[in-house]
Amino acid sequence: MTRLISSSLLIAILAFSALLPADDRYTSARQALVKEIISDVQETSIYLDKDALDPRVMDAMAKVPRHEFVPFLQKPYSYQNRPLPIGHGQTISQPYIVAIMTDLLKPKAGDRVLEIGTGSGYQAAILSEIVSEVYTIEIIGALGEQAEEHFKRLNYRNIQSRIGDGYYGWESAAPFDGIVVTAAASHVPPPLIEQLKPGGRMVIPVGSPFLVQHLVIVEKHTDGKITSKQILPVRFVPLTGGH
Ligand code: SAH
Repeated sequence: MTRLISSSLLIAILAFSALLPADDRYTSARQALVKEIISDVQETSIYLDKDALDPRVMDAMAKVPRHEFVPFLQKPYSYQNRPLPIGHGQTISQPYIVAIMTDLLKPKAGDRVLEIGTGSGYQAAILSEIVSEVYTIEIIGALGEQAEEHFKRLNYRNIQSRIGDGYYGWESAAPFDGIVVTAAASHVPPPLIEQLKPGGRMVIPVGSPFLVQHLVIVEKHTDGKITSKQILPVRFVPLTGGH
């Protein structure tokens, strides 16, 4: 009996949600995703050294429409907490990973941040909700162009993007308060350390392609000293390019 009631309730909920406009469905799916990230952060607090992320980061996760950054066929899965294919062998990162990378960067209003690996543009959009200027570089022309269209259509005016090899950074816009690399590198690119402000930080996955990588924080202290710290094991597509 209980099962009968609960299955008819489920059908009623599904029928009701099918009647909702698509935007409302995405909004409630996004709210559910935010709750999932909150509990994932609690479960992994041992790595993160905290059990909740910066509210500014969580507000951005609750606001940015991830479904606008994924290919049409992936839209139904936009608010699942996992990476999704975006074409050209690349992926949009898992939302939990986007949230913790953004948090580890300690972004503040007024900051200028560089992202390497624009991909879908989603991570750049999250950052743009918090900081004053986002610069983002993508090596695959078609992806970079598509992300730029998303930024225009969705009115993200504080994001500047370009196509190129992010290993060398964006010298004319440097120095940056923060740099986030969203593809795995075998080592921390020296030009990126160079383009970090004293007092700035970089978040980068370091390790072998398709094997174990670690999310690493690199800090440039005000006296110019560089220190780094491993946070947690991750899996990213490789940083490519000619270096
Ligand atoms: N931040 C992205 C995740 C993209 S996956 C998002 O939010 O969707 C990593 C991206 O890094 C891929 O699009 C890949 O093409 C790009 N990439 C790899 N090597 C690169 C390089 N040397 N310079 C710039 N982008 C690079």
